[in-house]
Amino acid sequence: MGRPALILHGGAGARRGVDYDREIAHMREVVEVMKPRLLDGLSAADAAVEAVVMLEDSGLYVAGRGASPNAAGAYELDASLMIGPDRRAGAVAALQGFRNPIRVARAVVEQTPHVMLAGEGAALFAAEHGFEAIADEPSWFTQAGQGDDNHPPGVLAHGTVGCCVLDVHGRLAAATSTAGVFGKMSGRVGDTPIPGAGSWADARVAASATGQGEYFIRVAACAQTAWRVAAGASLTDAARAVIDEVGALGGDGGLIALDADGNIADPYNSQGMKRAWLTVEGEVGVDVFGR
Ligand code: ASP
Repeated sequence: MGRPALILHGGAGARRGVDYDREIAHMREVVEVMKPRLLDGLSAADAAVEAVVMLEDSGLYVAGRGASPNAAGAYELDASLMIGPDRRAGAVAALQGFRNPIRVARAVVEQTPHVMLAGEGAALFAAEHGFEAIADEPSWFTQAGQGDDNHPPGVLAHGTVGCCVLDVHGRLAAATSTAGVFGKMSGRVGDTPIPGAGSWADARVAASATGQGEYFIRVAACAQTAWRVAAGASLTDAARAVIDEVGALGGDGGLIALDADGNIADPYNSQGMKRAWLTVEGEVGVDVFGR
């Protein structure tokens, strides 16, 4: 049996001057809840999904309950799950009406021959499989992160949650969930539900991205991190190079990554990235602006 590790993020849309004490306390709590369960043998996929469910349900981040509406006033949510070593993947895009998009993404992995379901089809699937629907959208969603949104018009301000896990069996998984960028167009889908862009997990590397998704799609951010490691780069160098490439195209954000040895990387080029982690040594940490 190996030693587990985990890193999660609450989005790279953090702005200096905003108080993130609640998010910091919550992210630490999520890691503390997962730690003993991982030591008891919880699988990487279960841990990644359950950590993201806690983040979705908190209403503190721009995902799940914290979602903001699109330009048409609709709440369209994206999520994906990818599981190593055999790269099983499932995702939902522009899903409306359900509490935990990441749970629906998991069901896409386990109960369909497909990787992604979108829009009405995703909602139909979620309803048929008994996932919890949101009874009253206006009172359910907290629109977290709107206070962070001091970007000039036209800039893709954003927030997301994600989690990468290495379990005691040596397996990796990554889960990511979002409401996307603020004021997005109806039908807009970002990187979060796209395996390779917003999430990735194979035998060696798991990664989850957050930022202006259009750029993360264009650099295949999470897959590229894994490919750089496969080509011989350290996890830290691989993840940093990917964020530099996002920046070179004009994008902002960050990613979290974890490898099969328990190395952790969390580069960002935005002002901050909310994140917390459990190392293979058993240490728990949390940070937004430094490190
Ligand atoms: N990447 C997400 C998207 O573009 C937003 C975020 O991570 O903050 O939909």
